[in-house]
Amino acid sequence: MTSKPHVLLLTPGPTEVPPEVLAVMAEPVIYHRSKAFNAVLEEVGTQLKKVFRTRGEVILLTASGTGGMEAAVANTLSPGDTAVVGVNGRFGERFVEIGEAFDVRVIPLRAARGRAVPPDAYAEALRTHPETRAVFTTLCDTSTGVLSDVRGIGRIVSSTPSLLVVDGISSIGAVPFEMDGWSVDLAIIGSQKALMLPPGLAFVGVSAKAWARIEATRPRSFYFDLRRARVAAAKSDTPFTPALTLVLGLRESVRILLRDGLEAAWERNARLARGARAALQALGLALFALDPADCLTAAWMPPGLDSSQLIAAVRDRHQVLIANGQDELKGKIFRIAHMGCIDAEHTLSGLTAIETELGLMGWRRAAGSARQAFLAAY
Ligand SMILES: *Cc1c(COP(=O)(O)O)cnc(C)c1O
Repeated sequence: MTSKPHVLLLTPGPTEVPPEVLAVMAEPVIYHRSKAFNAVLEEVGTQLKKVFRTRGEVILLTASGTGGMEAAVANTLSPGDTAVVGVNGRFGERFVEIGEAFDVRVIPLRAARGRAVPPDAYAEALRTHPETRAVFTTLCDTSTGVLSDVRGIGRIVSSTPSLLVVDGISSIGAVPFEMDGWSVDLAIIGSQKALMLPPGLAFVGVSAKAWARIEATRPRSFYFDLRRARVAAAKSDTPFTPALTLVLGLRESVRILLRDGLEAAWERNARLARGARAALQALGLALFALDPADCLTAAWMPPGLDSSQLIAAVRDRHQVLIANGQDELKGKIFRIAHMGCIDAEHTLSGLTAIETELGLMGWRRAAGSARQAFLAAY
């Protein structure tokens, strides 16, 4: 028993971890070069394919999500190669930065505020830059809650030699995604978002088209060399010591996710997001994302009020943690997550805490309406 009350994480990573998963991770450490652990890797490898919706391989990396993004760049592009990067928020910007760090010629496509870069803009960029070797996009940019039309982008990229790389770090497993069906070549998930685990693992789904490129490219990373990882994965092994405690947790969390089916998780998140959007709008707040994802909801603060103050009050008086805006949005917006093992009661406790604290900060528009609006839309 802990003496401090648990603060409910409604942050878009890390997310709440189910007790069954925590229990598995509290067991004594096992040896990773063992038949028992090979069997665990084999099982999670098979299960993760179902999460990605791919028949291709899924590579497990001991890293946070950004390690998976870096692996995608370091294994597919050479210095001077051209890459088109769609930017719907800070995480799209991260692909620009990683590309530049690896001497890639980056063509950024920046979306209007709250919007996703439309597929047409990618098509236009590929016409102007036919030498493009990779297109990067973010399924849900967690900094803004904006959803990309990855299916539409996939239709455009699949007929070119370019690879399509999707940052699904917070969103694959939370919202509809079809790696094979949408012609995605590399897709990335992080452990601490929809997969209900602590941070520390990244998963990279790799298509046949991507493997052909990777085999023909000199990898610019030793630790994140996907060829080396693939050879080990074929033997249900990893090249280096994996965060095996997290892998044991992963087996449990993916079992939970797939027990009811991925569609059930998508549907639950969609309902929570619908409810949250309705409740926040009932309170007179404007939503940030105009192309919203169901992973999280971001809303503007009322004029003159600071989200840092709201977040602190919600945390200290209600034991619920919501997230601030990032960079220039800090203090101006707040974000409430729906992914993972969050249910309607959790979401309502977050929304009513927001309502109460906004009231104490002087914003009393439609006070008392959040719960009803949530339940009507949910
Ligand atoms: C969380 C997140 C990342 C970064 O992941 P880290 O685990 O912090 O490295 C990248 N992209 C998106 C969309 C994310 O939500």
